[in-house]
Amino acid sequence: MEYRIKDISLSDKGKKKIEWAESHMPVLLSLKKKYEESKPLKGLVVGGCLHVTKETAVLTKTLAAAGATVAWSGCNPLSTNDDIAASLVKDEGLSVFASRGVTNKEYYDDIYSVLKFNPDITIDDGADLTIEFHKNLDKYGKNIIGGTEETTTGVLRLKALETNSKLGYPIIAVNDAETKHDFDNVYGTGQSALDGIIRATNVLLSGKTVVVAGYGHVGKGIASRARGLGASVIVTEVDPINALKARMDGYTVKPMEEAASSGDIFITSTGCKDVIARKHVEKMKNGVLLANAGHFNVEISIDDIKELSYESKKINENVEQFLLKNNNKINLIGEGRLVNLVAAEGHPSEVMDMSFANQFLSVLYLLKNKGTLENKIYKIDREQDIMIARLKLESMGISIDKLSENQSKYLNEYGEGT
Ligand code: NAD
Ligand code: SAH
Repeated sequence: MEYRIKDISLSDKGKKKIEWAESHMPVLLSLKKKYEESKPLKGLVVGGCLHVTKETAVLTKTLAAAGATVAWSGCNPLSTNDDIAASLVKDEGLSVFASRGVTNKEYYDDIYSVLKFNPDITIDDGADLTIEFHKNLDKYGKNIIGGTEETTTGVLRLKALETNSKLGYPIIAVNDAETKHDFDNVYGTGQSALDGIIRATNVLLSGKTVVVAGYGHVGKGIASRARGLGASVIVTEVDPINALKARMDGYTVKPMEEAASSGDIFITSTGCKDVIARKHVEKMKNGVLLANAGHFNVEISIDDIKELSYESKKINENVEQFLLKNNNKINLIGEGRLVNLVAAEGHPSEVMDMSFANQFLSVLYLLKNKGTLENKIYKIDREQDIMIARLKLESMGISIDKLSENQSKYLNEYGEGT
């Protein structure tokens, strides 16, 4: 075991949080129980790059229980929970390279510490590890079977690699599972992004105008939760269909240049860059809050905000206030990185249960199909999605109807009309 973490003495605190997550992740736990005896992953190295949270800890413990050697780094410089990292090292004996507040160099050094384990399978979130691995496949890729990708932007980056015929091993797009993006992205981010903003500022949402940039899975979750807390919501979009959906869901839809002067709180959720830039900031009211729930730290142009400012000061650990040359103040939460993971605890365990059951089953799928898959991006099997949904419903004590033989027949025939 090797590691680079902040403080191993935090392990007790981390362990209690992991136990809490375990008690809220029944689907993943059932998979752990199912495979801990047969240990299908024995002899394999799983190299991961995912937010080091209590939920990720349950995934790494499941992989280890199934026999894998686990080497892990964080996938965001500000999202590592140092107590969780400590418990994974001390209590579980896993190799973890992550701490909160790393520099860019430390962030990539940690990724390389994982790659040096010569992974058989990679698990990534945002594709930073997978892209670095591709630059060094000759050096570290001798065992590689395949990999998985957790999030929308990571899948897009890897699809770009595939389009350029540069994908070096098969990837399962975990984000594309319905039991992932229709739940994690929507309900998970919908709740946790607002949780992050509230923990950082204690702002009252009721009576505020919240501008949500992007009305995809993440944006629609945030918009609905913000409305539920009493805010008026304006949506900005570039896609006519999603813009129309937002309008028909009852939101005001405008270009960001028009929304900029009305908003009190701005939340980006597009996966795109410069969604909030100089021309928007110049129009904003005094005291607005800016947060990003999309990816990396590029959705809000921090360079533009700095250029417009003469000074900045920290209000608390997660809020930086910029004093603009036009005398307005702008409050940036979590350095423009994922507000839900930087200023709160990320998505609740209940929803990560399904995302990480998909991750674990995808690892097993890669192993089972070793040598038969092409260097392509693969979707999750529909069967897997259905199985996870069934297990989740079961864990919630919910049963559903079954089609009768007659009904099934009816749905598959064209003969019976009016
Ligand atoms: P999506 O493709 O479903 O939605 C993105 C939406 O943003 C689309 O409707 C698109 O038209 C719109 N958009 C793109 N560029 C825009 C721009 N310049 N201005 C306005 N709208 C724009 O993707 P998604 O699943 O909703 O994910 C969005 C981002 O959030 C991705 O980067 C994803 O990786 C990330 N994500 C974050 C979390 C989290 O925990 N914070 C969770 C899931 C996904
Ligand atoms: N790594 C990039 C890409 C976005 S991460 C970045 O940090 O900017 C977005 C992903 O975080 C989502 O797809 C979601 O599955 C994951 N996530 C959200 N809450 C989490 C939690 N509690 N634990 C682990 N991962 C979480």
